[in-house]
Amino acid sequence: MRQYEDSWQHKGLRKKLIDQLREKGITDEAVLEAMNNIPRHYFLDSAFDKIAYEDRAFPIAEGQTISQPYTVAYQTQLLRVKKSDKVLEIGTGSVYQATVLAELGARVFTIERQKKLYDLQKNYYFKSKYPNIRFFFGDGFEGLPAFAPFDRIIITAAAPVIPPKLLEQLKPGGLMVIPLDHGGLQRMLRLTKQEDGTATEEAFDLFSFVPMLTGKNR
Ligand code: SAH
Repeated sequence: MRQYEDSWQHKGLRKKLIDQLREKGITDEAVLEAMNNIPRHYFLDSAFDKIAYEDRAFPIAEGQTISQPYTVAYQTQLLRVKKSDKVLEIGTGSVYQATVLAELGARVFTIERQKKLYDLQKNYYFKSKYPNIRFFFGDGFEGLPAFAPFDRIIITAAAPVIPPKLLEQLKPGGLMVIPLDHGGLQRMLRLTKQEDGTATEEAFDLFSFVPMLTGKNR
C-alpha cells in the first residue's frame, strides 16, 4: 500500500516551484495558492517522489502524462475560474489539474477516454476533500450534454480542431481554454462564446501536449 506523506521537504520544494512559476510570469495568486496547497507528488508514482516538484511533465499510466506545473498554472489562469463555476475538463489523466480547479472552488466534471486512467479515480486520495469533482469515462469530443451548459471548458490534450459539441455546451459568455494543433505544437487559445453561438479567439503561447484522440479505449 502506498504511503502518503506531505513532509516539510515536499512543502519546501513546492514553495520553490510556486516561486519559479511566479518568475515565469504566472500572476494569479489564487492559482498559485491552490497549487501550493496540493501535494503534486501524490499524483505520481512514488518513484518520482524526489523530482515531483521540478517544473516538468512526467509519465503516468497508458503512455500519458501529468502536465507540467507551468502549463497547469497557465491554463488555469487563462480559465478565470470563479467559485461554483461549472467546469468541464477533457483529459482527467492524473487528476492533478482537476484537483487544482476543485481547490479553487469549481464544480468539476472531468472526462477521460482511457479506462485504466479513469479507474484511478477509485483510489483518488482526495475523494472526501473534493466531492466537487465528478469523473466520467468517455470521449471528450462528445462532452457531457446531460450536464451542459458549462461556465468553463478546459482541454488538456492537443486538440486537432475546436470540437463543435464542446462549443455548443459552453454558456454564452463562457470561456474555453484549448491547446490547438499548430505546426507540430499547440497554440493555447482562449475562446469566449458570444450570444449568437460563435466564439471570439485570443491566442497565447505554444505548448506541447499528448494528442486528443477520438473514441474510448477500454
Ligand atoms: N489533466 C491531466 C493531463 C493528462 S494528459 C493531468 O492533470 O494529469 C491528457 C489526457 O487526456 C490523457 O490522460 C489522455 O488519455 C486524455 N485524452 C486524450 N483524448 C481524450 C478524449 N478525446 N477524451 C477524454 N480524454 C482524452
